[in-house]
Amino acid sequence: MNNRRLLIVVPCYNEEAVLEETNRVLLDVCDDLAKKHALEAGILYVDDGSHDATWAMVKAFAATDARVHGTKLAHNRGHQQALWAGLERAAREADAAVSIDADLQDDPWAILQMAEAWTKGNDIVYGVRHERKTDTLFKRWTAQGFYKFLRALGGDVLYNHADFRLMSRRALEALMAFPERNLFLRGMVYSLGFPHTEVYYDRTARIAGESKYPLSRMLSFALDGITSFSVRPLRLIVYSGLLFILVSLCAIIYGLVSWSSGRAVPGWASIIVSLWFIGGFILLAIGIIGEYVGKIYSEVKRRPRYAVEEAI
Ligand code: UDP
Ligand code: MG
Repeated sequence: MNNRRLLIVVPCYNEEAVLEETNRVLLDVCDDLAKKHALEAGILYVDDGSHDATWAMVKAFAATDARVHGTKLAHNRGHQQALWAGLERAAREADAAVSIDADLQDDPWAILQMAEAWTKGNDIVYGVRHERKTDTLFKRWTAQGFYKFLRALGGDVLYNHADFRLMSRRALEALMAFPERNLFLRGMVYSLGFPHTEVYYDRTARIAGESKYPLSRMLSFALDGITSFSVRPLRLIVYSGLLFILVSLCAIIYGLVSWSSGRAVPGWASIIVSLWFIGGFILLAIGIIGEYVGKIYSEVKRRPRYAVEEAI
């Protein structure tokens, strides 16, 4: 019987500083995967349109070791799209794929535990980083607060999980059935279901090179996470419209009372009443339009209605 194939998918953008070390470590991991789990393990580098020596290095690795594969994107499309490109290829060529960043901030040795959990029948194994003991209370609170906020707005994600995970072929195939172009993979994968579990690890500092995710890109990623996943913000407009109309009722009563007791300056009551009411009405109207936009939004994504896990 052929051994099952596992591909480690590594998106790389201008990573010449780390790639030598990354390749060495990941090949060691592949050796262990073969020894301990009888897997045919390989690495797939996805060069996300780098301008440095990244692709030349990948070609050199592939020439010296048959377990190394590469895909070069024609231009820089961002981490999520590069990862998708890799997973798409892995869904065709392997029985499972592990995604990991090129800088090895996520412990590559945790892949062994992931493979083990996969062998035990899990389709998705999430890498979850331990709470960093060195993190300040403030850092932890803001991070936790952000996850809660995201969740409240309908972007359901697993706490402390980034894009370090294993997916079986059938989970990959279910993911590939999502036709949308705006990707927020950690949310999309989380919505798949299938038997899944978590593996814990410590996240370290980048081994070399610098982060390709400055704060601005991080914020836009967070915003994407909400807007590419949920129409709940649109519904919030409806609610706030209703709230404002309610407030306008109070304003009407207050205005009338002030007016009849003669305390109000002439003209004040009518202005204050229409101000609140019109404000509330406009919000409600925008919200209703938003509801329809939300419907259009989820229809144009044309996501599959369901994925079957088992049938007997
Ligand atoms: N990356 C990519 N395309 C980009 C930006 C980043 O493929 O446009 C890759 C990068 O090479 C790395 C991973 O995405 O493997 C995560 O990037 P980085 O480590 O810079 O992000 P951070 O860990 O600082 O959030
Ligand atoms: Mg990093």
